[in-house]
Amino acid sequence: MDDADLDDVISTIRDLVRTRVIPFEAEIDATDEMPAGLREEAARMGLFGFAIPEEYGGLGLSMAQEVRLVMELGYTTPALRSMFGTNNGIAGHVLLEGGTREQKKLYLPKLASGQWTASFALTEEQAGSDPAGLATSVADVSDEADRRASGDGYVINGLKRFITNAPLADVFMVFARHSGGEAKGKISALLVEAGTPGVTVGPRDEKMGQHGAWTSEVRFEDVRVPPDALIGTPGEGYVTAMRCLAHGRLHIAAMCVGLAQRALDETIAYARDRHQGGHAIAEYQLIQGLIADSQTDVMAGRALVLSAAADFDSGADRRLGPSCAKYFASEMVCRVADRAVQVHGGVGYMRGVSVERIYRDARLFRIYEGTSQIQQLVIARELLR
Ligand SMILES: Cc1cc2nc3c(=O)[nH]c(=O)nc-3n(C[C@H](O)[C@H](O)[C@H](O)COP(=O)(O)OP(=O)(O)OC[C@H]3O[C@@H](n4cnc5c(N)ncnc54)[C@H](O)[C@@H]3O)c2cc1C
Repeated sequence: MDDADLDDVISTIRDLVRTRVIPFEAEIDATDEMPAGLREEAARMGLFGFAIPEEYGGLGLSMAQEVRLVMELGYTTPALRSMFGTNNGIAGHVLLEGGTREQKKLYLPKLASGQWTASFALTEEQAGSDPAGLATSVADVSDEADRRASGDGYVINGLKRFITNAPLADVFMVFARHSGGEAKGKISALLVEAGTPGVTVGPRDEKMGQHGAWTSEVRFEDVRVPPDALIGTPGEGYVTAMRCLAHGRLHIAAMCVGLAQRALDETIAYARDRHQGGHAIAEYQLIQGLIADSQTDVMAGRALVLSAAADFDSGADRRLGPSCAKYFASEMVCRVADRAVQVHGGVGYMRGVSVERIYRDARLFRIYEGTSQIQQLVIARELLR
């Protein structure tokens, strides 16, 4: 897509955000449900496949284009982006990074059109920041006595938690460790369709924020999948997961910039409007200091994300930049949200007020797709190796 077309897409998204989502933010937060028809509208706009190549029905955006679009999506509740975030991001990218041509042809058009929702199932109770320690197992059916009954393929057993979009998912990208065979001990990624016997999705998690974006645990109990469910070659799943996360980190960093801009705009509007001591609080220099700090933070975050995205596209750097951007932008949006609440005073602590919701929504960004501490480790290791 050329930049003129991208500008058109961005302007349509800006309109969608302001007319179809912002007016319903408080309701989404209170009910944990997205407005009716929004999913279909997003699908018509191509939002389920903006990061999926055009040959599979997506918009085929480069990383630099994607972060610009995601900054617009970030201006409202993160639940909007979450509807199609896994298709474009961590789950869709498992296929893009590791899938065979046949798997891409079969599944990516369904994800790009929004016909299907995909989830990325890596995290477990004992494997969060250290996913290499995961316990979900995959066994070769041919290793087992009952092969004649069930045919070739694999058997998966395990429990994943905090899986975004699991309650809606049509397909899971599941990471599991081989219990035998040539890839014994190594991790593979497998495609598991939601209706497969033995797959159970738990109730929706009750989260602090980002309401309207659903997560839940997913249990795999003797789940049998055919040989072509394996994504790529056996044992390559961990490398695929790490590549997907590098892309996802830039995407999340762009979300943080969008949300921080929103928190700042809310701050400025309130500071102008609210009067104390006979003056608008915006006239007080201590309030101006908070606003100036937030503006500086937002500009620094935006510049870092755009620069890291350009290096990602050129291939110059796909590790250091994404981690630096995710680390800085996720910490930054929490600082900006905190100042926004401060400028709102007691009002900022009340449910139904935008900045109170933003404060809760922003908190997740420092935790998922690698906590801030994990980003620090990735950054330092990259520099010291
Ligand atoms: C709302 C939500 C959505 C999510 N969506 C998905 C999803 O779609 N798919 C998926 O697979 N996962 C998902 N996750 C999981 C998420 O990626 C993990 O929660 C995250 O990686 C942290 O793992 P953990 O929760 O087990 O924390 P832990 O790993 O237990 O970390 C606890 C604390 O210890 C610190 N820590 C851990 N190891 C180290 C270390 N080596 N050095 C220094 N500090 C360390 C961490 O930074 C953190 O502060 C989601 C989580 C949430 C909350």
